Amino acid sequence: MRVQFWGTRGSIAKPGPSTARYGGNTSCIEVRSARGTLVIIDCGTGAHPLGQHLLSTSAKGLRGHILISHTHWDHIQGIPFFAPLFVPGNRWDIYGPKGLDQSLRETLAGQMQYTYFPITPDQFGATIHYHDLVEGTFAIDDIKVTTHYLNHPALTLGYRLEADDTTVVYCCDHEPYSRSLAGGRGDIAGQDLRHGKFISGADLLIHDAQYTAAEYPSKIGWGHSSAEYAVLLGQFAHVKKLALTHYDPLRDDAAVDRVLTAIRKGLPASSLIEVFAAAEGEIVEIQPSPSKPSKQRAASFPATVSLTPALAKRSVLLGITKASTAEELSEVIRAEGLRPSFFSTIDEARNVIQKEHPSLVLLEHDRVRVDGMTTCRAIRQARNDETPVVIVATQEDPDGGAAAGVSDWLIMPFTSSYARTKIRAWVLRTECRWIRASIPDNEEGRIAALHALRILDTEPEERFDRVTRLAAALFDVPVAVISLVDESRQWFKSRVGLDAKESSRDVSFCAHAVYSREPIIVSDTFQDKRFADNPLVVDEPRIRFYAGYPLMLDDGNCIGTLCLIDVRPRTLEGPDLERLHDLADIALREILATR
Ligand SMILES: [Zn+2]
Ligand SMILES: [Zn+2]
Repeated sequence: MRVQFWGTRGSIAKPGPSTARYGGNTSCIEVRSARGTLVIIDCGTGAHPLGQHLLSTSAKGLRGHILISHTHWDHIQGIPFFAPLFVPGNRWDIYGPKGLDQSLRETLAGQMQYTYFPITPDQFGATIHYHDLVEGTFAIDDIKVTTHYLNHPALTLGYRLEADDTTVVYCCDHEPYSRSLAGGRGDIAGQDLRHGKFISGADLLIHDAQYTAAEYPSKIGWGHSSAEYAVLLGQFAHVKKLALTHYDPLRDDAAVDRVLTAIRKGLPASSLIEVFAAAEGEIVEIQPSPSKPSKQRAASFPATVSLTPALAKRSVLLGITKASTAEELSEVIRAEGLRPSFFSTIDEARNVIQKEHPSLVLLEHDRVRVDGMTTCRAIRQARNDETPVVIVATQEDPDGGAAAGVSDWLIMPFTSSYARTKIRAWVLRTECRWIRASIPDNEEGRIAALHALRILDTEPEERFDRVTRLAAALFDVPVAVISLVDESRQWFKSRVGLDAKESSRDVSFCAHAVYSREPIIVSDTFQDKRFADNPLVVDEPRIRFYAGYPLMLDDGNCIGTLCLIDVRPRTLEGPDLERLHDLADIALREILATR
């Protein structure tokens, strides 16, 4: 394996002349197997230069894995700045310890909430899968990965990577279980012995060494090791090379040198361990030694690791009796990297919630067949927590829902795309900024009037196309459309700059104008709660600006719009709106002439 250090600092980045040699970036390490499998351990600020390096040296379709030790800032702060996550076609798997209350993905999304960061993880262009880990063993291509809980205030995993007959172990952030060992002497027992076994026989051990033995007494409980403890455990476990890392922000290069000199002086002449201070940019190539002495010695420690379930999957609990709905939702849930689980009785539901802590509960409800509201009430009585409980129904009952403790509603029918966006928002505890247009009161009459025009699914016609061409030219927009909204879709009688002939009603901007019967102007979709998460905004055609003028029949029904679309934010005011009105009237006259 080949290891490169991209960040060696602990707690906070510390750039500047006094840290130039060992580096100012926080924890980030790149590991490659001989076969080329790419694993990154921790994504502190060092992930930024690593990401730039990967982009400049890799072909398209980059494939990589990120192991997060824990979600303290100095280990994840580089994620929003890790450019390969934004490139479509790249595939990344992100692994981290499974927390008690939220998934890795929820936690990572937390540092990307609007208050802290302008974009969300949903806007990563790469395909990303998140994996919650417990202790155990799993495989990343040709690398065997074993996880082990460390002693730190946050839930933290150490990683043992085995490939090509070599072993690399990463243990950051970790504090001695027995404080007396921080001085670098003493009997290794109990939990420290377990730690020793986990690192046993490593060709390279990368270990927390934030403090010195002298400093440690004033840092007890802060979750970090002394360099002396790292060396003591490394020797005990017959580690070949020990890289000290996670330097305290107060330690400049000269201080790191002093620590290293003192450590080396203290080693007995017979010691085989090679101790060095990890430096940003440094590369360590690890070759299997022909005699494999470390392996033989390691055999005296039976591997700590025989457990398999390292991957824990988050679940969504479903109380859905209708087979087709259950199937559709399960598919959406799996597509989000979650596991659907089902129950038949309320007691069973309570049990699953107690044991699995699902991220979300979805309950079907109608007035005749299934009573999701009663189940919701029972769940809330048993466990008064924040788990969102969503009712799947054909219509909303806000008052009844509030009384039963319902968090939100998923109104049928819905497209998979809509259900997926909603489920993602519920699981991540973020707001879903995609609101489907309400259905007008006079919907049946409106649909009948639209069908009576006999215009739906007819061929394109010049008399309409000249209107959209004029609109696009007059307002200098790339897209202009005459859009008609029927039961389940919006269909385009004429379109300039747009390939699709129709799209589903729940993504439709025009459906909002159909409901309100007012012109709708959205200056910047990213700033609009109704549209920011809409697939037409997030994906192609990436709408940023929309202006739709309603096409009104004499009976007061709105059948669609003449609308303008741009990929930049902009606005439309006063006289421009009047011109759009004029063009909409021309389009409407042509529609009526069809009859
Ligand atoms: Zn740290
Ligand atoms: Zn930490």
